[in-house]
Amino acid sequence: MSKRDYYEILEVSKTVTEVELKKAYRKKALKYHPDKNPGDKEAEEKFKEAAEAYEVLSDPQKRARYDQFGHAGVGGAAGGGFGGGMNMEDIFSHFGDIFGSAFGGGGFGGFSSRPQQVQGSNLRIRLSLTLKEIITGVEKTVKVKRFKLASGATSKTCPSCHGTGQTRRVMNTPFGQMQTQTVCGACGGTGRVADHIPPGANNQGLIKVEEEVSIKIPAGVREGIQLQVRGKGNDAPFGGIPGDLIVVIEEIEDENLKREGDNLHYELYISVPEAILGTRKEIPTVTGKVKITVEAGTQSGKILRLKGKGLPQVHGYEHGDLFIHVNVWTPDPGKLTKEQKEFFESMVGNEHFSPKPTKNDKTFFERIKDIFS
Ligand SMILES: [Zn+2]
Repeated sequence: MSKRDYYEILEVSKTVTEVELKKAYRKKALKYHPDKNPGDKEAEEKFKEAAEAYEVLSDPQKRARYDQFGHAGVGGAAGGGFGGGMNMEDIFSHFGDIFGSAFGGGGFGGFSSRPQQVQGSNLRIRLSLTLKEIITGVEKTVKVKRFKLASGATSKTCPSCHGTGQTRRVMNTPFGQMQTQTVCGACGGTGRVADHIPPGANNQGLIKVEEEVSIKIPAGVREGIQLQVRGKGNDAPFGGIPGDLIVVIEEIEDENLKREGDNLHYELYISVPEAILGTRKEIPTVTGKVKITVEAGTQSGKILRLKGKGLPQVHGYEHGDLFIHVNVWTPDPGKLTKEQKEFFESMVGNEHFSPKPTKNDKTFFERIKDIFS
């Protein structure tokens, strides 16, 4: 089957300008528009043919190749810019603007043949995670109540707008007749209305169901981060695409570990004798317990650092650190035995017990500075 010349199809000259080309295509497209020629196969073919011609000629590169090599230059040996595969949907999505604002300029006589793509509303849930789940990442299954297109619900082309999603109105004004277009009230712009509604569904064919949704949470998320699960929000009325499920992350505060960015902080309490004699202590990290040595003579307020025992960065390979803040616990004097109390009384004024801070016993601020430098 030999293909017709693209210029011939659109009835334009080889020197046609971009503007003229658009005009010519619009004319053809409206003439053979499927809404105006329902069931007419020949019109549909002509409509597709015009779209194909316009697709090639409106692209300067394709047009140059077509001028030089003909159909073979833009569609291979078989010919045809679309290889015959372009359907009506493609045409509307490519050239929708041709029928819309571009036609007649602005709102004057506009004619939009492409129904609006309506999206279902988003749903939002909060999801609480433990520090451990945040560190390792986790897959959670949640129950979501969402509107779903009921099974058995069917739709038909909107009779008010014939599927275009727009209604036109002709008004007489001092400047002559003017056309205005508005979103079709009967279908909300989708071009489809309910045909059969099964019991229990609303007038858009939607029914509320509880569904389990599996959510993959990457390691290192933090309070307030929002994750998006595509298509798991409410379904749209007929012909639309479903909304998204927005998952807002909440952190369950850990009883031992305080989070600060990617770093963690742990308050370690040791006794007076432990501070003097040194000790081994177990630290609960998120990935399990770790034993650390507290050296003999450790001062209260010392900060120990476990490198890499903090949280992973969401977008990165680094880990934060775990800082251990050493606190020396002063015993309740009321609970000391007579002997214990007498021992400490005898030490009052003893030179080994009197504070003699050296340069190594830095102030709190100097220690903090050291840690973060
Ligand atoms: Zn409608």
